[in-house]
Amino acid sequence: SAPLLDIADLRVSFRNDRGEEAEALRGVDLTLEPGKVLGVVGESGSGKSVAMMAFLQLLPPTARISGSARFKGEQLVGMSPSKIRRIRGKAVGCIFQDPLSAFNPVITLGDQIIEAIRLHDRSITRRAALKEAERLFELVAIPQPARRVRQHPHEFSGGMRQRAMIAMALANSPDLLIADEPTTALDVTVQAQILDLLGDLRKELGIGLILITHDLGVVAGMADDIAVMYGGRVVETGPTDPIFYETAHPYTAGLIDAVPTLDADGPLRQIEGTPPSIFSRPPGCSFHPRCGRAQAICMTEDPPLRRLGAGRCACHFPVRTPQEAPA
Ligand code: SF4
Ligand code: MG
Repeated sequence: SAPLLDIADLRVSFRNDRGEEAEALRGVDLTLEPGKVLGVVGESGSGKSVAMMAFLQLLPPTARISGSARFKGEQLVGMSPSKIRRIRGKAVGCIFQDPLSAFNPVITLGDQIIEAIRLHDRSITRRAALKEAERLFELVAIPQPARRVRQHPHEFSGGMRQRAMIAMALANSPDLLIADEPTTALDVTVQAQILDLLGDLRKELGIGLILITHDLGVVAGMADDIAVMYGGRVVETGPTDPIFYETAHPYTAGLIDAVPTLDADGPLRQIEGTPPSIFSRPPGCSFHPRCGRAQAICMTEDPPLRRLGAGRCACHFPVRTPQEAPA
């Protein structure tokens, strides 16, 4: 089938206040088939949010964007603002980390959903849209939907507010949901409930889901494919199981070690050091200052993303080099 979303060589650059230009995204390729889940994983500053904001045209106008992002065959890069607005919030629904900043505090949640629905279709009456808001609340398992749609965001707990944001993202029956750190602000139990809900909904509704997170554990049970990003590029990608069981990139291996486990005694093993800023990215492989496997070539040559086993990896000295399947 044709991909739902096909991103190729997507690049974003910013200029700092000294007039220097730097690439925040350095040629990213991502593909999502209809109804599938893609996990985009990396620490903050890896470019994972920038990639999504770039093709949805949510970046400041100073960002320079090039490359290709086809959604259902339509090119989004360079699309006119009025046309992209018709895609955003309709064919593509977005869920962010902090629902409080996504909602207007003085308007009831029901009215905000009504507005989201009628923004894309004026022929729907307010009354019908309110019924739809109640149905959506029920869909995301908010108890007493008819009462709750009349409440304001601050009357909801963190988890319930996140459910309301999912309801709003689903308001116009999108084909694609983008969830950027949807559970980071929530406690562990609620986190698991929201992830279950997202997983159930996208199966039930057959929508594609891009789950952006710094926590590989969040996507482990849910993603069909994973793309690990570092320093503005994809450093390892492939089907989920090989990412975990035939891990090739040292950065991915570090992220796996950092996943909290129930039986873990003692502190988590975090990757030492911090990710580089886009204006001071080291030459060669940008992970080299933090990598235990780095050798001289890593400091001068940025490794290309090469096919390796079931996926692709950008590293001169992969942790594991799976055997090619026999012909
Ligand atoms: Fe480490 Fe070198 Fe691989 Fe980069 S290319 S991840 S520095 S081994
Ligand atoms: Mg982010």
